[in-house]
This record gives sequence, structure tokens and C-alpha cells, in this order.
Amino acid sequence: MIDKYKKIVIKIGSSSIIDSKTKNIKSKWITDFCKDIAKLQKNKKIVIVCSGAIALGSNSIKKRKNLRRLEDKQASAAVGQIELAYKWKQKLKNHRINVAQLLLTLDDSEIRRRYLNARKTINSLHENNIIPIINENDTVATEEIRYGDNDRLAARVAQMIDADLLILLSDVDGLYDKNPIKNKNAKKINEIFKIDKKIEQIAKNQSSELGSGGMATKILAAKICMNNGCTTIITNSNNKNPLVKASPKNSTIFYSNKTPSSSRKQWLLNHLHPSGTITVDEGALKAIKNNKSLLPAGITDVGGKFSRGDIITILSSKRKKIAIGIAAYDIADTKKIIGIKSKEIKNILGYEGRDEIIHKDDLVKFT
Ligand code: GLU
Repeated sequence: MIDKYKKIVIKIGSSSIIDSKTKNIKSKWITDFCKDIAKLQKNKKIVIVCSGAIALGSNSIKKRKNLRRLEDKQASAAVGQIELAYKWKQKLKNHRINVAQLLLTLDDSEIRRRYLNARKTINSLHENNIIPIINENDTVATEEIRYGDNDRLAARVAQMIDADLLILLSDVDGLYDKNPIKNKNAKKINEIFKIDKKIEQIAKNQSSELGSGGMATKILAAKICMNNGCTTIITNSNNKNPLVKASPKNSTIFYSNKTPSSSRKQWLLNHLHPSGTITVDEGALKAIKNNKSLLPAGITDVGGKFSRGDIITILSSKRKKIAIGIAAYDIADTKKIIGIKSKEIKNILGYEGRDEIIHKDDLVKFT
């Protein structure tokens, strides 16, 4: 079923590639898996997002059994990542496939300039038939500034490069209507066309042993992709030829909506950590609903900390999130022009700025 897709991001969870007891790479698994990759590489562009660095390196960080301290996890990732990348290089070399390593941080998908940089790098690797092997840069990531799970990282990479398929490999076949470990009669959901509250609730209780994500983050990843014209498959890495044999029978497939919005708006919609907020009055709320720009006259309050070019959330007077956009002014200047007419901006700020706080091209409504 994956024949028709052209650009595929494959995310491999820690439990798929690392043996939970020995904390070593499952050598036979990766050998077999690379055969699947080699088949796909012939006529598709592939990106691999691979977890496991922390679990793999944990053998060397002996003092801490459960790796609770951040610095132990970071050190563990530093040890594990080098081995992980080398294994991919070795195994894919047998198929004459070259690989490259990219370690990304949250900012590489959240800050547009960096996002475009990472995108260009991946495109250049693809032009040269090299498979990017990606992980989060865990050695420098701290709790506040990390993805934390590679499911969402993979979804953001898929979005970044306009992939049409994301495959999330796990230790389960897909999403079940009940937790399959606790309920023998749990049934797998084969196809999903919309992620609603019910699906999110079901996913909450289904996690995996080694990875940090579980089903909840996989659903979040599928949601990001669905909004971007990218289909998502959750499938079991223990199946024989898990990639080429993936189908609704042995997986859960989340079909994307058919009309992806423009890439700038997509990027805005999926932004994880907006820098600030702007609260608007009823008039501005109406204007935004009618796809107009946000003018200073309609602002009643600002919050957070943002500079020009940062992403901010727009709130209604009832504090409901109504849109997200790129600020044309920093917070200090925005505060000075709250509620005023655009033609007065120059007098107040002493320079000629934009008439709009957020231009309609930089604004996306939440539906
Ligand atoms: N980046 C983490 C690692 O390589 C994995 C995060 C996850 O479990 O999704 O260990």
C-alpha cells in the first residue's frame, strides 16, 4: 500500500531497535530492516528518524540505574548516538546506500529561518541519494526546550520536507480501541479519517516500554501530518518486512485531508511554543474570522515575551485561542500602540512600521 507515496519519513522507536534487556542494538532486526529500506530507496526519498540513543548509551552510565538526572540522560545520548549512527552507516553500506546524521533541536522546526535551513540540508542530501538519519540533539536538549519524543519530531520533519507519508514503527500493530495489554478483546482500529477527542482519549492509556512517547504522541504526530497532506501509518516493527508489507490489516492508517494548506500556514498552525499572546476585541475577532489582518485598534492586551517575527497566539476576550500569527512588532512596541489607529503608529513609535500587528498572510485561524 505504500507504493504510491514518494517521500517517506520513517520513525523507529527505541523499543524497535534496542533490546530492552541488554540495551544493545538488535542487529538482526536492523539487517532485515535495511533490506526493506533498500527496496524503497530505489524510487522514493527516505528519511529515517531513529530513537534509541539514550537507551543504548545507558549501559555506559553505570552509576544511575534509571537515568533520572538530565545530565545522565544527556551523557547517555552522547554515547549512544555515535553507535547508533555508525550502525546505520555500516548496515546501509551493504546496500550501497550512503547516510548522513542530523541532530535537530526544537528550534530547528519552530524558528522559520532554522526550519528553512534544515529543509535545505535534507533536500540537498536527497538530491545526492543520501538517507538522512535524524534524532533529537539530546545532549544539549533540556526539558523546556525539547520535543521529548521522536514521534512529533518525525511529524515536523515530514512537514518540513513536504513528505506524503510518515511511518511510525512501534512494538504494537497500531491503535486499539482499548489497551491491548490489559484487554484481550481489544480490537485494532484499521483506518482513521479524523482524530477526534475519542481517539485521543483511547491513545492516552497505551504506552510502550522503552520509548518516551507511547500512543498519545503518535496520535499528536498523526494529527500534525493529517493537517499537512501527509498520511501516517502506525505499524509493528516486528512484522516481517514492516515497511513494504504495511497495510490496514496489520497497521493503523491515518489518512490526511486532501487539500494541504500553503507551507507557511502549515508551519504556523503546528507551532508548538508561541512566544506570546495578543487579546483582541469583538471587532478584531470578526475581522480575523473574515480573513482580515489584525490592526492595533483591535488589541486590548498583550502577554508573554516576543520579538518582531516571533509566533504569537491570538485570544478572544474570553481567552479562547482563535488564531496564530507572526508579530510585526516586538512586545514593547505593541504595548505602546494598543488600541490606536494605524496612522498614528509613526508618531508614537517614531518610525514608519507596518499598519498591521499581524498581516493576514501571516495569520492562520484555528478551526
Ligand atoms: N531521542 C531519544 C533517544 O534517542 C528518543 C526519544 C523517544 O523515545 O521518542 O533516545
